[in-house]
Amino acid sequence: MIRKPARELWKARKRRSPVALITGGASGIGLACVRRFLKDGWRVAVADLRPTPDLKAAGDVAFFKADVRSLPRANAVVRAVVKRWGRLDALILCAGISRAGLLEKAKIEDWQAVLDVDLTGVFAYLRAAATVFETQKSGKVVAVSSTLALRARHGLTAYIAAKAGVIGLVRAAARDLGRFGVNVNAVCPGLVNTPLTDPMPAAIKDRLRDETALGRIAEPEDVAGVIRFLCSGDARHVTGEAIRVDGGQLA
Ligand code: NAP
Repeated sequence: MIRKPARELWKARKRRSPVALITGGASGIGLACVRRFLKDGWRVAVADLRPTPDLKAAGDVAFFKADVRSLPRANAVVRAVVKRWGRLDALILCAGISRAGLLEKAKIEDWQAVLDVDLTGVFAYLRAAATVFETQKSGKVVAVSSTLALRARHGLTAYIAAKAGVIGLVRAAARDLGRFGVNVNAVCPGLVNTPLTDPMPAAIKDRLRDETALGRIAEPEDVAGVIRFLCSGDARHVTGEAIRVDGGQLA
């Protein structure tokens, strides 16, 4: 028997490994997903505004500079991923921003900015990937919503509306893409330790921690683990779902 050199075998295995595209993968929850999927042998592409040093250190990732608000750019990124690796197995939608502000003082610019990134950004990548999934007859999508979509709080009107919209969009997409064997789900984290929540006052973080059943604030890896599960065969009959990852905060 002629044995292939180890490098050939490694390349052949790599060619078969699944492909994930992660928006917002340069930081926080998205970056934890990048690390987790790489660790599990996936090939990973990231669409984000800029590559961070942490992303560069995470390993072999195809980076696409992209603003998620742009559908033409989403189409180009998805096309490039499929051209490079021949497939797209999972689409993970983490890019997001937040703007605090009471409704009575809210500015339309802030409303629009949050809706554009947090909701239209999810739509753009779902739309761009839908035709690939239809052709493949397979695919997994996970979008990051928030517990705030399930129980509102003071002073976050646009963010809460956008995150509730993500759950609606996920359900609609689960219906539209289900016939192609595609699973579309959302995760709803409570407070997670990421650069997004760094500026939050410690007293508020302590209060939110005390509201959880587990008495802890989530790390990005806690959310990445659930996203990874939703992209696995073990979750093949789960679709149109929004799973809380909140340490029992809303239990
Ligand atoms: P993060 O660390 O700030 O990561 C978000 C990433 O999205 C950043 O790399 C950011 O780039 C990128 N991004 C922002 N606007 C973008 C745009 N227009 N186009 C492309 N990329 C863009 O925040 P995170 O906490 O990991 O949040 C990830 C997701 O989880 C968000 O959807 C957030 O709403 C959601 N979430 C977070 C928490 C929490 O407590 N952290 C709780 C519930 C839900 P820049 O850093 O360069 O702006």
